[in-house]
Amino acid sequence: MKKPHIAVSLLLFSSLGFTVNAQQHVHGQGELLVSQEGNMLHLQLVLPAADALGFEHEPETTEQLNSQNLLAERFTLNTNVIDVEGKCELVNVEHTLETHDDDHESGHDEAHEGEHASHKEHVSHKEHDEHEDHEEHEEENHQNIEVEYQFHCDDAVSGITVALFESMPSLSAIQAQWITERGQGLSELSAGKPTLSW
Ligand SMILES: [Zn+2]
Repeated sequence: MKKPHIAVSLLLFSSLGFTVNAQQHVHGQGELLVSQEGNMLHLQLVLPAADALGFEHEPETTEQLNSQNLLAERFTLNTNVIDVEGKCELVNVEHTLETHDDDHESGHDEAHEGEHASHKEHVSHKEHDEHEDHEEHEEENHQNIEVEYQFHCDDAVSGITVALFESMPSLSAIQAQWITERGQGLSELSAGKPTLSW
């Protein structure tokens, strides 16, 4: 019995015509990739910043700054983001949302950069080579937010529920792709159908 390897899984996803880091950026449309290997469940979520945050640029007001910090914390703690059906423990979180301190008067920006690098939620930036990093403004200036979760599960997991739709009303659908030991499939999740089962 050979377990599907992650690299193989990604190839399968590609062959289905999907890629994790969507070339197209469509407001209201997110993507979710779920793969399971043994006890590990890996989820990768891509959301347009316009839906997740309501803006697609560096925060310019205190309100935007607070929104971004709150969302970053929510992703880090997995508060109403993803519910896993099974006995699972969240063991790793990565997301591309920067957290900012509010007190920029003291001119500690350089020190803050250093702190950012050591924040727990920024465990790894390895993915950044593989997708557009929108720190520099581009012509269209769209941004996606990526969140990755790794769960360690004692039981077999039969599905997950995305709990984002209520708080992100402009997010109309998430194209979900899953590969587990039971097979693979595609499904469109929405506020009326937020659960992916396999
Ligand atoms: Zn956009």
